[in-house]
This record gives sequence, C-alpha cells and structure tokens, in this order.
Amino acid sequence: MARPIVATIHSDALRHNLSVVRQAAGRSHIWSVVKANAYGHGLARIWQSLSDTDGFALLNLEEAILLREQGWKKPILLLEGFFAPEELEILDRYRLTTSVHSNWQIQALAQARLSAPLDIYLKVNSGMNRLGFQPEQVHNAWQKLRNLDNVGEMTLMSHFARAEEAQGIVEPLRRIELAAKDISSPRSLANSAATLWHPQTHHDWVRPGIILYGASPSGKWQDIASTGLRPAMTLESEIIGIQNLYPGEGVGYGHRYRASDEQRIGVVACGYADGYPRHAPTGTPVYVDGARTTTVGAISMDMLVIDLTPCPEVHIGTRVELWGDNVRIDDVAAASGTVGYELMCALAPRVPVVVAD
Ligand SMILES: *Cc1c(COP(=O)(O)O)cnc(C)c1O
Repeated sequence: MARPIVATIHSDALRHNLSVVRQAAGRSHIWSVVKANAYGHGLARIWQSLSDTDGFALLNLEEAILLREQGWKKPILLLEGFFAPEELEILDRYRLTTSVHSNWQIQALAQARLSAPLDIYLKVNSGMNRLGFQPEQVHNAWQKLRNLDNVGEMTLMSHFARAEEAQGIVEPLRRIELAAKDISSPRSLANSAATLWHPQTHHDWVRPGIILYGASPSGKWQDIASTGLRPAMTLESEIIGIQNLYPGEGVGYGHRYRASDEQRIGVVACGYADGYPRHAPTGTPVYVDGARTTTVGAISMDMLVIDLTPCPEVHIGTRVELWGDNVRIDDVAAASGTVGYELMCALAPRVPVVVAD
C-alpha cells in the first residue's frame, strides 16, 4: 500500500467553471490563465478540459511549447513577455503572442528576423506598478510598435491591483483611458475578480485564472458561493494513527495544543511537505466521515492531527478531506493567513495526482 495521500483533479469541474466564466464574460473572448503549471493542477493533465477556451495565457516558454506539442493550435499569450531577445526565435517558431512592457522589448522586436509578424499585447501600468508603460508613455510605444514589420495585431493590456474591491477599478480605468485616448484597439484588462464583478472591464479578452479552479479571487469562499464555481482539486488522505489524550496532554511539536478533557485525536498522512500550509493553526477546518472537524497542534512535515470528537466512528483508514467540496481551499487558506492561489500552486510533487472525468 502506498502512502494514502492523493490529489484528485476534477475535469468536469474545470469544464463547468469555464462555462460559468463564458456566461460571465458575455461576448468577450477568454484567455484561460494556466501559468504556474495551471495553478498547481498540472498543465499537461488539465488543458484539454479547458480546450473550449479561446486562448491560454501563461509565462514559461516550456509550458507554451508543451501546449503546442500536445496539439493546441489557438492563441497562447506570454503574460510577462519575453525575457531576452534570443527568445523571439522561439516565439516565432511556436507562434506565441507576447506582452510588451519595456522599451528594450520594442528594440528587440525591431531587430529580430521573424518568419511572420507576432501579435503583441502592449502593457499599460494602471497603478499596480509592476510591469508596463506609464499612461503618458503609451502613445509613443504604440507608434513605434505599429511601425514594425515584425508586429501583427496589437492589443492594449493592463492588470488590476484591487479588482476585488467595489471601487478598485475606478482609478486604473481612468489611467487606462488616458493611455488609450487616441488608440483604438482591442483591450484585455479583466482578471478573475474583474470578470466576475466588473463587467465594464470585459472588453475584447478577459483573463481569468483562479475562478477556473473554483477558488475565490478575494480569498473568501462566500464571495463566489452564488456563482456555481466548483473546486477543481480535492486533497485527501487517511487516518493512519489514533491517540486518546488525558486532560493536560500535549500534541505534536512544541505541544502547541493541549487537551483540556479526555480527547480522541486522529493522525492524518498529510503535512507541509505535501503542500499543506505549515502555518495552519489549531482550528483549521478538515472534513472526515461526514463531519467537519479541525486540526489540533502544529502541522508537521508528513503528518497533521485532527480532533475526532465530532466523529467518533473514525478508525484507521478513514478518508479525510483536507480541501475540496466539503472544506473549501479558501477556508483553509484564510485560517493559515494566505490565499487559495498559494495553496494550489504549492501542491508538492510527491503527492500522487489522479484525474477524474
Ligand atoms: C495571473 C494573472 C491573471 C489571472 O489572475 P486571477 O486573479 O487568477 O484571475 C491575469 N492577468 C495577468 C497578467 C496575470 O498575471
């Protein structure tokens, strides 16, 4: 018998979530964001479940090449653009659309020898202050690019810093309008939060990521509860040990939890080396045997401990859901001071993954 931990990827949930996005996006095209190995779900294993999308957005050339080699013919967008002029040859060979966020990239495009023009996404810094041209620099960058034979279709792109807030897009949209004042071109602005909550940002292409995987861009599961989005990943393991504590006895490293009464606890084969957050405190939700219970004590590398008081029937071998349909990854993340994004991306390579239809 193998160690009982397993992550299940739900193809039907991915397909369903894409259809929810399609509804929300109206007539806009969809870049399904599959960076970071499809947010930890495994790009090679999941892209076909999302193949109704209009394009895939990611940022590693290896991932883009994988999609082409597996037969994806529609557009691929490199969200961070190319990292060195030499890479343009690969963008050319695999027909990749690239964001352009810096002047050196415009020069590299001017000097490259390409077999055909590349479509580009000119990135506007609308206040995130990571990548992109300031609004007042955009006109100039646009003109330079428009004059290059190596440049095909051009789209204006920006990324929101605070789209999960009701007013979070007001100032960025002002800056984008400023940047675009004499440019009429397609636009791509909306991440998951803007796709769900700010239809006025949809324009030509939306770029949802986290909602395809069934977690909330705000970090709060309640915020997407009414959308019908479903978790695309379940992380499960089993009880591999049971202890009965006397009042006052401690549990795990540092005895960070002590029983106040007699208490039955279960040891689960899942720890931080599997991707479970080490900072999860006592009280982090877990689902076992039809009941919700919680972790107690420190999360260790290979194990965690749960309270069995609400589920007296539990025995060695009982299945435990760490996150999935019954315990939302957003809730585990919130308890641990992080977001669902980080937990799904951090699923460890040692966890076996199965794909369910
Ligand atoms: C990651 C990313 C997205 C998707 O963000 P979500 O919050 O997961 O929807 C969209 N656009 C860019 C530029 C990104 O880097």
